Amino acid sequence: MEEEKKKSKAKIIIPIVLAVIVIAGGAAWYLSRVETKLGRAGYDKAQIEIIKTLFSEEEQQALIEAEAQPDIITVAQSDRYQKEHFADYLKDLGSGKNASEVLNDYDPWVITLRGTEGYNEENLDLYLYSRKDGTAEDAAYTVNYVNMTLLYSKASDYDAKLFEAYEKYRAKAPDKTPEEIVFHVGKSRDYLDETYFIDAYLEKYEAYRAKNPDKTLEEVVRAVNSGIDKPFYTEMAETDMSKGYLIIVNKYNKLPEGYTPKLESLSGYGNGYMEPTAAAAFRKMVEAGREAGVSLRSLSPYRSHSLQTWQYQFWVDAHGQEMADRESARPGSSEHETGLAVDINTAVEESHFERTPEYAWLMEHCWEYGFIIRYREETEYITGYVFEPWHYRYVGVEHAEKIMKLGITYEEYYAYYINNPDYPETGGPAE
Ligand SMILES: [Zn+2]
Repeated sequence: MEEEKKKSKAKIIIPIVLAVIVIAGGAAWYLSRVETKLGRAGYDKAQIEIIKTLFSEEEQQALIEAEAQPDIITVAQSDRYQKEHFADYLKDLGSGKNASEVLNDYDPWVITLRGTEGYNEENLDLYLYSRKDGTAEDAAYTVNYVNMTLLYSKASDYDAKLFEAYEKYRAKAPDKTPEEIVFHVGKSRDYLDETYFIDAYLEKYEAYRAKNPDKTLEEVVRAVNSGIDKPFYTEMAETDMSKGYLIIVNKYNKLPEGYTPKLESLSGYGNGYMEPTAAAAFRKMVEAGREAGVSLRSLSPYRSHSLQTWQYQFWVDAHGQEMADRESARPGSSEHETGLAVDINTAVEESHFERTPEYAWLMEHCWEYGFIIRYREETEYITGYVFEPWHYRYVGVEHAEKIMKLGITYEEYYAYYINNPDYPETGGPAE
């Protein structure tokens, strides 16, 4: 009997014990579940589901240990989220910042922006938008782009497409207001494709264009830059002697009264004298030509003012002033008075110097010695002189190379690269 009692007691106890074990185990398991812990940390069911997909086990543990920050989900879903800053985001959210603030604070691009001159925290969203747009290549560009766009857009004739043109003009005319810049570019937009366009001459271009409606814009720019929007010799200015080897002497710019350059004999290389640097360059050129099998000699280099006066008068007496002006320079306006010019081998059209190997060699090599051909074919309307294949002018190697390669007249080169009013400090655009 006793035995049986014992047996039935065990029959009851064992399942109870087992049940207790199962329940306790289940409870312990339930309580240990991450979901439960996240729930107890303050996240709702939907948030917990997302957390499990976004964060590693380690990160989930960190979320359980900290006060609930549901914004961390927004942060992690942003395309600007940086995994390595998880702990920083969490800490900063805990100290009261919002999702976009913490994203910005660790975004390397925003950090660069904030260190950029002109940065304005109020415009941060616009800077970020510009980056998204793909128009921003670097922080400085973006900051400037947004800041300037805001300024330009206050002008009534603002056009977003012209932003680059506004900026180009602003670089040349830094004192202009944004309204003035927008207005100027609006008026000059026809000329956007003209390489040698000079902003300061816009009104002159427009005046010349109005009088010459058949000219192309390129012709208008060439004409005004060279000064031929007014007749030769009508507005003579004293040339700017501070330009050194780059002075311009032509039918608008004359040498100062009584000017005489330093001179050196070209003895052994032909007639006369040149300015010493030009003379040395000429001798080098003659020697190089000799090695290449061409024979160059100075026929007519420096001419004194009195000789030029005599020579011009000789032409006038013989052929009249109109003809004289095409072939000879009025005193003070001749390059030969500078000591930087030289007629090589001949000075008459009839000898057709342009058909000689000497001319072909000069066309290829004269710049190497700092010389340019001064009166090109078909440029009489710009230079005021007929084609003179024999007349060369010393300007130094650097400029000679550019002029010969660009194939433009010295008048046009001087206007754009040496004496460009858009670049008062340097005289011309930086390359
Ligand atoms: Zn000459």
